Parts: sequence; structure tokens; C-alpha cells
Amino acid sequence: AKEAGRNRSIVFEPSMRSEVERRLELLRDVRAALTENEFTLYYQPVVDIRENRVAGFEALMRWVHPEQGVLTPARFMAAFEDQDLSLKLGDVAFETALKQMRAWLDEGVEFGRVAVNISSAQFRSGRLAEEIQERLARWSVPCERLTIEVTENVYMGWGSDLVSETVRRLHEAGVMIALDDFGTGYASLANLRQFPIDRLKIDKSFVQNGEDEAIVKAVITLGTSMGMKVVAEGVEDAEQLEALARYGCDQIQGYHFGRPMPAGEVAGFLKGFGG
Ligand code: C2E
Ligand code: CA
Ligand code: CA
Ligand code: CA
Repeated sequence: AKEAGRNRSIVFEPSMRSEVERRLELLRDVRAALTENEFTLYYQPVVDIRENRVAGFEALMRWVHPEQGVLTPARFMAAFEDQDLSLKLGDVAFETALKQMRAWLDEGVEFGRVAVNISSAQFRSGRLAEEIQERLARWSVPCERLTIEVTENVYMGWGSDLVSETVRRLHEAGVMIALDDFGTGYASLANLRQFPIDRLKIDKSFVQNGEDEAIVKAVITLGTSMGMKVVAEGVEDAEQLEALARYGCDQIQGYHFGRPMPAGEVAGFLKGFGG
């Protein structure tokens, strides 16, 4: 079996070759798209269901492809897994979000907070907290306007000392910290207490699977008892919303309230919501 395994890894299947080539081609295309400024952010509302108002928006990366239209990260995942490209996309995300927040502040658009997703590569320099604070200062955006979303596996996995130290500094500066995709990785309850976390985001796989009701309830109870707000993502219909409200969930994100939208639609959305 060992022999067979070794052979398999040496033989270069034609199908594998094309997979490797496709990946390289994608990375090449992403590099070119970065120089053409084809990446932008869409904004999805997060609604506070206790106060019935928009608490903020999550910034989600989109590739406005000249031929293929607006692409979601599923179509360029390999770029987020590449160290160099992931850093470049992270820069684009921060600059785009901060520039947009500055514009909204100037225009009097009451957007609340904007949440930006952070990948593990962005922590590696050890300077992420300073970089973020420098950028906030450069755009004169108050720290309290920014949330960073860190997935459970990044937060508590490899290099977790560096990550938690960075996150702690940002938290002390007033940036809100959300633990993303909670329940899909290896966070333990003991870990939860050690890290500064303001928001617990329940992954949409739990929200959308009726059989996971007990998990959803438990996460809401747990987060709330630890003083965090709990956000449920992937809420698509009134039935899911009603159940989450009953369990005491604080905030809702999902197609039921709004899909990710271009920045230009945010002011209109807020008006329509009653803001
Ligand atoms: P995520 O951080 O878990 O973001 C939530 C995803 O759920 C988004 O997918 C959003 O469009 C989708 N979603 C929200 N509500 C619903 C719903 O009601 N139904 C369904 N079916 N989906 C819903 P999206 O925009 O395709 O992003 C996918 C992932 O890509 C994100 O998952 C995040 O992990 C990553 N990503 C997006 N933008 C960035 C970024 O700027 N930086 C980094 N590092 N990762 C990003
Ligand atoms: Ca997220
Ligand atoms: Ca998430
Ligand atoms: Ca997710």
C-alpha cells in the first residue's frame, strides 16, 4: 500500500496538471486584476433585532471581472490561500473600506460599523495592530467604527499568541472583535474566555440546518452569558428570524434583510429600513 501511495504521488496525472495550471492561471489573473483595480467591496447589513435598526455592515470582497461580471470569493479562493496575494487583497479591503467609511461620514450616511474580514497571512508581520491604527488615523475614521472578523481557526490555531496579542491591542484601541464562523473550527470554551471577543458569529451552516437548533440555542446562551453579542448569519426567511429572536439572538445577517450590495446602494437601503 505504501508503494502504491508513493507511486500515486509521483505519477503526474493529466487531470492534476490541468488543476495546477488552472490555479497558476487564476493567481496570474488575480495579480493582473489587482493592478487594474478590479477588486471592490460589497456591504451586507447586520440588523440589531432588539432595537430594530441596522447595526452595521460586513464588507465582502468582490471581483468585478470585465467579462464574467461580479465574482464572489468562492471563485478566487486560491488567491486568499496565497501569502502574497492574500496580503494584497487584505490591503485593498482595508483601504476600500476606510475610504468608503470616510465618504459616508462626510455625507452623513449613518452606517454604524463596518466589519472587515482578516486572513491569517495579515497577522504574520506582527504589525497588524499598528497598521490598522495608522490607516484609521490616516482616514480620520474613529476606531469604534471598525470591526474586524477573525475566523475561529485563525484566532485559536497556528500562531495564536501573535494573533491574540494583536487582537488584544486592537480591542484596547476600541476596534470591535468578532469571532467568525463560530462552531466550525476548534475553539474551545476555555479559549473563549482568554481572548477579547465582542461578537460571536454563528456560522450559517448551523443557522440553515434545522437539525442544529440545539447548537444554535447553546451558542446564543453561551455568548450572552459571557457578555458577547451573538450574530447569526445566513438568515434567509422569517421563520429562521423568528426562532433566533426567541432564543435571544442579538443581531441578524442574511438575505432576509439584505444581500451584499455595492456601496452606492447603502444610503438607499438605510432610508428604506427607516433610518
Ligand atoms: P464569511 O465571512 O462567513 O461571510 C459571510 C458569507 O455568507 C458571505 O459570502 C455572504 O454573502 C454569505 N451570506 C450572507 N447571508 C447569506 C444568506 O442569507 N444566505 C446565503 N446563502 N449566504 C449568505 P461571500 O461574500 O461569498 O464571502 C465568502 C467568504 O469569503 C466569507 O465568508 C469570507 O470568509 C471570505 N471573504 C470575503 N471577503 C473577504 C475579505 O475581504 N478578506 C478575507 N480574508 N476574506 C473574505
Ligand atoms: Ca465574515
Ligand atoms: Ca462568517
Ligand atoms: Ca462562513
